[in-house]
Amino acid sequence: MRRIYLDNSATTKIDKKVLEAMEPYLKEEFGNASSLHWFGQEAHNALSKARGRVADFLGCNFLEVYFTGSATVSDNLAILGIIKATQKRGITKPHVITSTIEHPAVLEPIKYLEKTGEVEATYLAVDKEGVVKIEDVERAIKENTVLVSIMYANNEIGTIQPIAQIGDWLKARNQKSEKKILFHTDAVQAANYLDCNVDKLGVDLLTLSGHKIYGPKGIGILYKRKGVEIEPVVFGGHQERGVAPGTENVAGIAGFGEAIEEIKNQELRIKNGEKIKKLRDKLIDGILKNISGTDLNGSREKRLPNNVNTSFKGVEGESILMALDQKGVAVSTGSACASGSLDPSHVLMALGVGVERAHSSIRFTLGKYNTESEINYVLKILPGIIERLRKISPLK
Ligand code: PLP
Repeated sequence: MRRIYLDNSATTKIDKKVLEAMEPYLKEEFGNASSLHWFGQEAHNALSKARGRVADFLGCNFLEVYFTGSATVSDNLAILGIIKATQKRGITKPHVITSTIEHPAVLEPIKYLEKTGEVEATYLAVDKEGVVKIEDVERAIKENTVLVSIMYANNEIGTIQPIAQIGDWLKARNQKSEKKILFHTDAVQAANYLDCNVDKLGVDLLTLSGHKIYGPKGIGILYKRKGVEIEPVVFGGHQERGVAPGTENVAGIAGFGEAIEEIKNQELRIKNGEKIKKLRDKLIDGILKNISGTDLNGSREKRLPNNVNTSFKGVEGESILMALDQKGVAVSTGSACASGSLDPSHVLMALGVGVERAHSSIRFTLGKYNTESEINYVLKILPGIIERLRKISPLK
């Protein structure tokens, strides 16, 4: 059967060049990067090369890049590590600002710290397009605010947040105050398409993931600006200067470096984004025009070039996903049904679309391997699928 992969925000197919870059470190150059012999030094060199490549991409210093086990680890480290360091300086109950549409890797550690009574938190609402307002960030600042964590682009609806503007505002505010507020962004979904230069964004901490950029799974990055104090949250080794201990995933890191190299060129990144955007727009317009009772979730303009999130009135998203899968098309839904919970997506709920529309949503996320013929195929089969499901739907 023809298989069409439209779930690139869940994970991406590894790039051939990435796989080649990883191979030596899974074979003959298998050393532990901490060992002093040749094998160890070969591995260590691979880490240095990859660290340099990531630093180039982010426009930062080599020593500001930390390798972690995933973006989930990086987000947790950024939040827990900054709060622990703050507490060490004697601030007992610091205040954190985030948004209601963050990934659970950001929301959950904040909620955990709130539950243990260690932080006060503000969850900023988004507008109906899914965008955080800078004025709301300004208004939420308190005497004890130490950290703002807002994602660069959302994983479900692809909304792009005004990170550089928030960064600018925080920088100006910090210049006038003794009490500095740090700024973290989860750039996991943005990295393929948007400029991640940390100075332009004005961020102190930034998270990336390997498997969303045609790299391997199980590898993440935390950028931490020089001078920003962070406490480790895992103990037991000196790796990554004690900030993220544990024997380094050398092959994964080498793969990450290669994946970053592929998206490093700004012009090329924009060009590839434009190509994918054309397919995205064809899919959005085709769905909205040819199928009645459909809506686009999130902003049309401030949207990643690869994200299509639409609701189909009167049909469960899971039914559409299963029907498309039977035809060889892989997509995802907003609700976390697969994990045994039938809760509607917190992101769609934050847009105010209501439970029913949230449950009837499907996310198509495109990538560099998708073709126009694949989009044409989806547009050909989708109206029939929706018509059939609407006839048998209990939601009618
Ligand atoms: N942050 C965002 C925005 C994501 O989309 C994801 C993965 O879906 C993560 C964090 C977690 O990434 P990882 O799979 O590397 O832990």
